Amino acid sequence: MKTKEYIELEAQFGAMNYKPLDVVLSRGEGIWVWDIEGNRYMDCLSAYSAVNQGHCHPKILDTMIQQAKNLTLVSRAFRNDQLGLFYKEICELTQSHSALPMNSGAEAVETAIKAVRKWGYQVKGVETGKAEIIVCANNFHGRTLTIVGFSTEAQYREGYEPFTPGFKIVPFGDIDALAKAINPNTVGFLVEPIQGEGGVIIPPAKYLKSARQLCDENNVMMVLDEIQTGLGRTGKLFAEEHEGIQSDLTLVGKALSGGFYPISAVLSNKEVLGVFRPGDHGSTFGGNPLACAVARTALKVLIDEGMIENAAELGPYFLKSLESIKSPHIKEVRGRGLMIGVELYREAGGARKFCEALRNEGILCKETHQHVIRFAPPLIIKKDEIDWALERIEKVLI
Ligand SMILES: *Cc1c(COP(=O)(O)O)cnc(C)c1O
Repeated sequence: MKTKEYIELEAQFGAMNYKPLDVVLSRGEGIWVWDIEGNRYMDCLSAYSAVNQGHCHPKILDTMIQQAKNLTLVSRAFRNDQLGLFYKEICELTQSHSALPMNSGAEAVETAIKAVRKWGYQVKGVETGKAEIIVCANNFHGRTLTIVGFSTEAQYREGYEPFTPGFKIVPFGDIDALAKAINPNTVGFLVEPIQGEGGVIIPPAKYLKSARQLCDENNVMMVLDEIQTGLGRTGKLFAEEHEGIQSDLTLVGKALSGGFYPISAVLSNKEVLGVFRPGDHGSTFGGNPLACAVARTALKVLIDEGMIENAAELGPYFLKSLESIKSPHIKEVRGRGLMIGVELYREAGGARKFCEALRNEGILCKETHQHVIRFAPPLIIKKDEIDWALERIEKVLI
């Protein structure tokens, strides 16, 4: 079958909730992917940072195959020999007290919301039904109804009303607004350390530190959504480390499996997860042995193979080089580690056409928020590969 035929199949039988670039991929290895016509592309999206470890990492692949031969799913009605080890390894690595595995990122967010509310009623003593969670404008936490209910993106919400109550929205990066929004019913503050889908927006220095302090002073649980920023993307295991803070709950997903399998988790520094009793919350696939085995190896290679250090070293190089491109279209280059956004002037006519031009040069990227091109290659990228990309990015942007 030809590219055009695959596209027609999708159009004929699929729901049209996406508008992908017209490239049909069939193979991946490291930072590279190939389409069905044999063209090679550098992946500068990494499946929204789910493939930090690179495509089809051989060690994760081995684990996947081996575990798939042994045991894949028994549900949580029974125990399996991977879950306990997954708990131990992820808690030790992230210095967490306990963990709760789910599948998608959105489910981890939902789980955190449930945990924090229950904690609010059982521990903080908020009157039942009154708990409030503060979130930020321009957030992205996933696509379930509760989550889009507190999105500020019109398209994510329209037509899906009514929404779950109990959320308050404050401007991102505005510590005074956060302070004003907190009241005795506030149980949690849910925030991305860097807004990814929002356009790679980095909050002012000390924002998260001050937010941490406000949460401490007011007995509010700080919930960091590190589903995109976590697991090495910003050059640290977690983006919170850039501000020297520790959340109460941290949400991970995406790269937790290196792109092999949907697995997410809520990591708890305090006893918040302790509010759950058997039957309070669950998931058929959550914590299954295949996901746990894959995640254990995905975490191991991230550390053993120095991927986080590589992001810390090459991210600033990539960023500086992008800054030095003399383009009439570039308004700002910003980022941390290998999470980089290039914001274009409105007059440039949107980032999409540049992404299409980059595709023709052999680089796959995705626009975010219309005017931002995001560069987030797998964390295993090498300097000469960044140089290869820069040549092409410069050509397209000049
Ligand atoms: C991708 C993402 C999510 C949602 O993850 P899914 O697996 O798509 O449900 C939540 N929060 C952030 C910050 C994300 O980037």
